[in-house]
Amino acid sequence: MIKLKLFAALTLLGAPLIGCSDDSANMTLDTAEVEAILHQHIALLASDEYEGRAPATPGEEKTINYLQQQFEALGIAPGNGDSYFQSVSVTETTTASDAVLSMKGGNYQATFAYAQEMIVGSQQQIAAIEVVDSEVVFVGYGIVAPERNWNDYAGIDVSGKTVIILVNDPGYATQDAELFNGNAMTYYGRWTYKFEEAARQGAAAALIVHETGPAGYGWEVVSSSWSGPQIGLQAANLNLDRAEIEGWLTLDSAEALFAGAGLDYQQLKSAAAQRGFSAVPLADIKTSVSIENSLRVSESQNVIAMIPGTQRPEETIIYTGHWDHLGVNAELPGDNIYNGAVDNATGTAALLALARLHSQQAAPARSIVFLAVTAEESGLLGSQWYAEHPIFPLAKTVANINMDAMGTNGPMKDIVVVGYGSSELENYLEQAANKQGRHIIPEPTPERGYYYRSDHFNFAKMGIPALYAESGEDSVENGREWGAKQAQDYTDNRYHAPSDEYNSEWDLSGAAQDIFPYFDVADKLSQEIRFPNWFEGNEFKAIRDASRLGL
Ligand SMILES: [Zn+2]
Repeated sequence: MIKLKLFAALTLLGAPLIGCSDDSANMTLDTAEVEAILHQHIALLASDEYEGRAPATPGEEKTINYLQQQFEALGIAPGNGDSYFQSVSVTETTTASDAVLSMKGGNYQATFAYAQEMIVGSQQQIAAIEVVDSEVVFVGYGIVAPERNWNDYAGIDVSGKTVIILVNDPGYATQDAELFNGNAMTYYGRWTYKFEEAARQGAAAALIVHETGPAGYGWEVVSSSWSGPQIGLQAANLNLDRAEIEGWLTLDSAEALFAGAGLDYQQLKSAAAQRGFSAVPLADIKTSVSIENSLRVSESQNVIAMIPGTQRPEETIIYTGHWDHLGVNAELPGDNIYNGAVDNATGTAALLALARLHSQQAAPARSIVFLAVTAEESGLLGSQWYAEHPIFPLAKTVANINMDAMGTNGPMKDIVVVGYGSSELENYLEQAANKQGRHIIPEPTPERGYYYRSDHFNFAKMGIPALYAESGEDSVENGREWGAKQAQDYTDNRYHAPSDEYNSEWDLSGAAQDIFPYFDVADKLSQEIRFPNWFEGNEFKAIRDASRLGL
């Protein structure tokens, strides 16, 4: 309370404020205090005692209990009726590695080797799946984007057929800034989208051709991440509305297959990046695939707390941060605990720090929700579950602000907006950053599609404007080169490794400083009446406009 009074006195006198990060609203905590709070939470959440916070383990139990206790101690209400938890049911599916994929027709016949020449699996949660003699169609990028007047499935019925799809999008392929988002990936470029669209079109099997450039990673990443247990949300319909088979072909396999059908893969690939492309059937070629799955069901929890709005409580601003990480790998010699200190004890700690900041404010007009989600590392599952089983109406969810990995290298001059150019939330963030004498900048590698790879994306998919920003690399004390070197060091040596451990020497003043603009954005939105939207041309705007229609 003392600080609050001091702030009021300074404002009355018109005195300039020093420190600049904590002068927004009537903050009762300054950067140093937030920094201390972050250290305390991260040290605990990333300790060996928490066993790497894997879903459905004793590490989860400790994590979610700690979060509940913290929200209770702050006097912040449960977010799911009288509970701080939302139960998330997950199914672990392991496809046996003797899966068979063969293609034949005319003079062509091939059986592709699992993990070497192809990889297949299924979202359908059933034990045995078989596709027999399914016709094959090349559907280019496999995109239906009405707002861009683009439809790769126009004039062709692929129900029961096998579709072959290119990765990324025509904008990346042509580097034409006028086509899609040019070099920057749109959601239509993500492999997850390709499978969703193929299912909507009724395809029996969907196979993406892997190419390292447009995918953003090598074949090993595809084959290793698709082998072994896959975790998905348990689906009431067992995901029977998905294609029976989803998978990838190597570039070599695809080229051989096209040649077998008397077609030129490279030539068709170029044609597919041009407006007006039509899908091409692969002559007489037919696909047969069979796989066997073992299935296991388990439960995990999202943790949710809220500060109810006094005027329009059903209108919410939702902060997210995933509490989970990779757990323990018993087969690893030496240190085998994936502590996930940066990823994402930092974001979880930030969520708690924001909860504390908001709890010290006058009650907002709209509700502010703090959602710590599970199973991000297994494919953004906790946030997907929330988006598919929302506690607050999606159409009245004003915005999502996501935190995944906060900076540990001290204050930075800039804030990086991932998916820059998406929504009006960036204008709010820019204003808040300017108050600190900082600015926002676009992410350096938009072609990798990072915007589609953390929890905010599940909100975006439902049309909710979602902001995902990161600490910049332009260090106030040591410059840009040094900052970039630190970031690279994390990526090379600690990202998703047991060495992502807490270090009491970390300079979390930058992370603390980043929290204030997030606070400002949510605080401002919580007092407003308007609903910010996506920028014109964004792929999620039509969904938002439709959901807001008539409200
Ligand atoms: Zn993460």
